Amino acid sequence: MKKTTGTDRSITQSWRPATQAVRGGTWRSEHGETSEALFLTSGYTYDDAATVAARFAGDEQGMTYSRLQNPTVAMLEERIALMEGAQACRAQASGMAAMTAALLCQLSAGDHCVAARAAFGSCRWLVDNLLPRFGIETTVVDSADNAAWEAAIRPNTKVFFFESPANPTLDIVDLDYVCGLATAHGITSVVDNAFCSPALQRPMEFGADVVAYSATKLMDGQGRVLAGAVCGSEEFINDSLLPFQRNTGPNCAPFNAWVVLKGLETLSLRAHKHSENALKLGQFMEERIAAAGGTMMHPGLASHPSYALAQKQMDACGPIFSFTVDGRPQAHAILDALKLIDISNNIGDARSLMCHPASTTHAGMSAEAREEMGVSEGMLRINVGLEDVQDLIEDMDQALKAAGL
Ligand SMILES: *Cc1c(COP(=O)(O)O)cnc(C)c1O
Repeated sequence: MKKTTGTDRSITQSWRPATQAVRGGTWRSEHGETSEALFLTSGYTYDDAATVAARFAGDEQGMTYSRLQNPTVAMLEERIALMEGAQACRAQASGMAAMTAALLCQLSAGDHCVAARAAFGSCRWLVDNLLPRFGIETTVVDSADNAAWEAAIRPNTKVFFFESPANPTLDIVDLDYVCGLATAHGITSVVDNAFCSPALQRPMEFGADVVAYSATKLMDGQGRVLAGAVCGSEEFINDSLLPFQRNTGPNCAPFNAWVVLKGLETLSLRAHKHSENALKLGQFMEERIAAAGGTMMHPGLASHPSYALAQKQMDACGPIFSFTVDGRPQAHAILDALKLIDISNNIGDARSLMCHPASTTHAGMSAEAREEMGVSEGMLRINVGLEDVQDLIEDMDQALKAAGL
């Protein structure tokens, strides 16, 4: 394997983002392939016993076992780190593997974690169920309320954990304030940036310590594989994450890493086109939803309570927004009337996908917990894809009409 200029940080850090997305982290085999090679191997062989001993002792660089390193996965990790502006990154099997690893690698019994109230269902499950089982105290707060974060801090608070925008309420966290507050109190901020990807928002520019991903979403971008990533300082990755990951094994499969690598090459183009379509569709629907007494939760529209903050933190609004209608029957009627947009709970896909969170992604939690985080019975969430936006507008128009809106 030959490292290319793509693996030399002294060179790649001066590249502009589009160049990093296409060339960052590339290694080449003796065949000189243009597209990154896919190394489907669990193990490695050595010329002699001294070599393997030196590698295990850490005296010599090189692969030893794919739970510890794999060349295809390493290329993905370096590319994501560059795009994120992070010192280091480790790929994970899924977004939830990434969130679990990012939290459990640093929290111990007796520690306290403050988390956003509005979050992806499984992220809330970690906070409400998994962490307390290991003696880790948790508090959930209204993530858009800066004072609530400060009020929740205790002497043993070790981690802040949140999404921005949040799934599916699109609550926006003031990254500058909340990450700054964490730093001032020696707390590690862990940001789940799945709704944006580094193409639309780079939380480390606002002081975030750790950025974790579901790469299943925008990074893959075409609904093919599950993958995740955790980005942080060299110190965090080497001293906290790696001992956890190497011994518990939530690793990203090389094939999935390869698919995501190819996705990153077009991430910025896609993320901006998704955002443009989402803004146009949101603008088309806004008056109609408001006239029927519903609410648009769309970070790209001036009606969003954190519109100014979203404009400051995000390069564009992203593919996802939510809106409310008059209860579950009307929400289901809209879904059932769709002819182009699919009923699906995935996001970040090139296809437009719509779902009813209360009966799908957030069905696992109690009605009170849903109510508290703002996931109402009449809420619908849409991932706006890369189709022609006029076709999406026409489909939404006829589905709303069919449901009486
Ligand atoms: C999808 C998602 C996850 C989980 O990712 P998987 O790849 O499905 O495990 C975590 N957080 C957010 C915000 C998500 O949208």
